[in-house]
Amino acid sequence: MVQLVPSQDEVMEMLKKTGAFREGHFVYPSGKHTPNYFQMPLAFRYYDTARVLAVALSRLLRVEKDVSSVLPKVAVVSPGPGGIPVAFGVREALSAEQIYWAEREEGKRMFRQYINKGEINPCIIVDDIIRSGDAIRETVELVKELGARVIGCGTIVRFTDSIDKIDDDIPIKSLVEFDAKFFDTAEACAGCKKDTPAEHVRF
Ligand SMILES: [Zn+2]
Repeated sequence: MVQLVPSQDEVMEMLKKTGAFREGHFVYPSGKHTPNYFQMPLAFRYYDTARVLAVALSRLLRVEKDVSSVLPKVAVVSPGPGGIPVAFGVREALSAEQIYWAEREEGKRMFRQYINKGEINPCIIVDDIIRSGDAIRETVELVKELGARVIGCGTIVRFTDSIDKIDDDIPIKSLVEFDAKFFDTAEACAGCKKDTPAEHVRF
């Protein structure tokens, strides 16, 4: 029996089991080293896991009065492809009317050109993981340019040194708050000091 909102430990257990969270010694293309690696789409390969995570996140979002008072006239918006399964799951759990997702084209985050000003409901922005918050911030700007209001924000995992709210007063809801450890250089890296073989990864 799954609790209404699983604990952080329970969510991390799901992420480990699906391979979405790994511990070891990893090197990003940027040259940064880290002992932790998230690859969230691995958790969303499994429908049951995806559903449990999205329903849990939807419960955190629904308790916000700004959200509950306008449902179902809400758009669930993903900053990119990673958040699309989250957006579909949250939309279903909230019975919200719309889903949109942005994409990066030529280095700029944008919606497809069929989205017209004025047609987007008040928005909840959701993602699978927030590492820096840049994607969320860019999406907030995009949504506002189209004349829509942002009323909520949620993610499965949030790195604790990223943003924790948007527009100063909208809290970012998350199932896991993760203290990610990055080392800027190999000299500073704990894994390198122990001579653990490193795996080269991308986001
Ligand atoms: Zn290292």
